[in-house]
Amino acid sequence: MKKVTILLLGLLTIASCKNDSKDTENKESIVTTTETTETEDTKVSKKSSFRVSPIQHATMVITWDDATIYVDPVGGAEAFKNFEAPDLILITDIHQDHFSAETIQALNTSNAKIVLPQAVADEMPSEFSTKIEVLNNGDLKAHLGFNIEAIPMYNLRPESLKFHEKGRGNGYVMEKNGKRVYISGDTEDIPEMLALKDIDIAFVCMNLPYTMTEVQAANAVATFKPRIVYPYHYRGASGFSNIEVFKARLKSLSGSEVQVVALDWYQ
Ligand code: ZN
Repeated sequence: MKKVTILLLGLLTIASCKNDSKDTENKESIVTTTETTETEDTKVSKKSSFRVSPIQHATMVITWDDATIYVDPVGGAEAFKNFEAPDLILITDIHQDHFSAETIQALNTSNAKIVLPQAVADEMPSEFSTKIEVLNNGDLKAHLGFNIEAIPMYNLRPESLKFHEKGRGNGYVMEKNGKRVYISGDTEDIPEMLALKDIDIAFVCMNLPYTMTEVQAANAVATFKPRIVYPYHYRGASGFSNIEVFKARLKSLSGSEVQVVALDWYQ
């Protein structure tokens, strides 16, 4: 029997005015996916929705169908007051822009599973011992209908090796019903990133001296070619990275194959 599956991707960004000026900034982004499978006598459509709400820098809330996922929740519980309590918390690394025990203690984590690398588990208060799920680089776990894979994240440039040593932190690939989302964590354009396959949505860091340049990031994204990329984690030691440089480089390498969505990560 002939079977055809078509995946349709829709993208909506929600903008709002900043300080009553005419400048608009993208506050949220929603990716809808309609997967239609057609055989000779049936046609089945499945819809899926993925909403990204940046909190700050590396911190975000993802609402994926009916699951609420907090990524690197820091900055106090107040920042999360407009969101549902988390079903899942992903933590990438021990640094304070990714891990805050105080913030996690102040959140409602009664239904949350907390996925983290061993180095973060070592610093997690003992009250969370029944909620944590340790994933180290390369580990794969299924939870709430998601497959979660821990991807390495580390520095390559000799002068930056001290920031992120290989094996300590995790990037993540989350997969559900064939949709695959990559969260880079703090990393450079490592071979494990370049080798990623079939990524629909990617969050990619770019800040110096801690991670990589806009050009390194664009080169990497042009190699693994997600359908949509969100630049995030782009405040460095001497200011912000230039997202326009990233965009231009990516366009020169891969035309309009990869859609760049710039959200306001630093409200
Ligand atoms: Zn960081």
